[in-house]
Amino acid sequence: VSYTAEWAGRVHESQGEPMRDAEGTVTGVIGVAMDVTERRGLERELEQRRLRDQQEREIRFDTIVRSMDEGVLVVKPDGSIHFANEAAGRLLDQPVEVLLGKPAAQVRGEEEWRRFLTPLLEGAKVTRREELALHTTARLLHLRAQAETVSLPNGDPAGFVCVLTDVTDFHDMSRLKNDMIGFVSHELRRPLSALKGYALTLLQQGVEKVGPETVNEFLREINNEADRLNQLTAQFLDVAKIEAGLAIELSPQSFDVHALVRQVAATQETASGRCAIEVQCAEGVHELRADRDKLLLVLSNLLSNADKYSPQGGTVQVRVTPNHAGVGFAVADQGLGIPQEQLRYLFSAFHRVRDASREGISGTGLGLYLCRHLVEAHGGTMEVESTLGQGSTFSFTIPASAGVEARV
Ligand code: ADP
Repeated sequence: VSYTAEWAGRVHESQGEPMRDAEGTVTGVIGVAMDVTERRGLERELEQRRLRDQQEREIRFDTIVRSMDEGVLVVKPDGSIHFANEAAGRLLDQPVEVLLGKPAAQVRGEEEWRRFLTPLLEGAKVTRREELALHTTARLLHLRAQAETVSLPNGDPAGFVCVLTDVTDFHDMSRLKNDMIGFVSHELRRPLSALKGYALTLLQQGVEKVGPETVNEFLREINNEADRLNQLTAQFLDVAKIEAGLAIELSPQSFDVHALVRQVAATQETASGRCAIEVQCAEGVHELRADRDKLLLVLSNLLSNADKYSPQGGTVQVRVTPNHAGVGFAVADQGLGIPQEQLRYLFSAFHRVRDASREGISGTGLGLYLCRHLVEAHGGTMEVESTLGQGSTFSFTIPASAGVEARV
């Protein structure tokens, strides 16, 4: 028999054993009583310290997990989300309260998300590591997802833990680097080899043999190609400036808007000859003060896109209309159109829509990015409306006093 008793502020632990004779009859009791107050105090203190340590560990874990940039998800064996930190909510584009309790496979609509989770949800012991592209309301995110199933000490499955790391910047940087290399080698090569071709012919055959008319034609082409190189490098420098966070310098001047639009349209028609370009200039807008060269670049980029993403023989319209904010420009085509979900990324550097209908159409994905920045440098805005398979309209407004206010 043992018992513990507390009296007079002290704790006593007593134990007793019956004493028996040879027949087994109880003849007495041997008892030991101990004052265990100090030991109990120590034990209580140890228990409290253990609880405090555990609480501290939990708080520390909680603080670390909550403040992490990585998203953490703990998923139960039935596939429902048991825990999600703030970052997981941000990366999966859903508030944490919405994530909790929801089936993990249903928090994203993307097929690759479900494919990533399937082996983990099947319960077998697995480790998964994959890069996923998820569309959020803000932008396209590239996530490195790592997940591992966990088991209870008896070996039963206990669900899995998934860590999501946002690698979008890294992804964009490496794409930017590759795209830049591609841009330089592809876009600069064409005019350079044309220049080389004309120069070599003249050198090898001699000016007399080629004849003055052909020499003149060659010189005109050399001049055009040099202009194209100039435009490309200027575009490239503008992109580098924008990427470095520097302002685009504007050189405003007053010019005739209609003349500019007609010039761009005629140049485009001559250069490509694929589509007919209709120019509609409303009465009442003639003079604009802005950076003429930059505006020319914007219009020729939009017209060149409208032309190259339209079927041969299509019609492209350029409309110039005064509006309350200044002068409105619109370039409309009846071409391939753009998928709705791509519209929000259209003005990002190097973003290209890739689908079967666009195979073989070359480009850098820089045109619209530059256009938007050039328009914004003037204090204007740029918009796009498009229906896949039916056509697109790119419109922008240049404030009437753009040239004065936007001077850097
Ligand atoms: P690029 O034409 O060099 O690829 P842009 O920045 O000018 O780059 O355009 C980005 C993407 O938007 C293109 O890859 C193209 O798929 C799409 N796009 C641009 N303009 C049009 C248009 N008028 N019609 C259909 N798609 C377009």
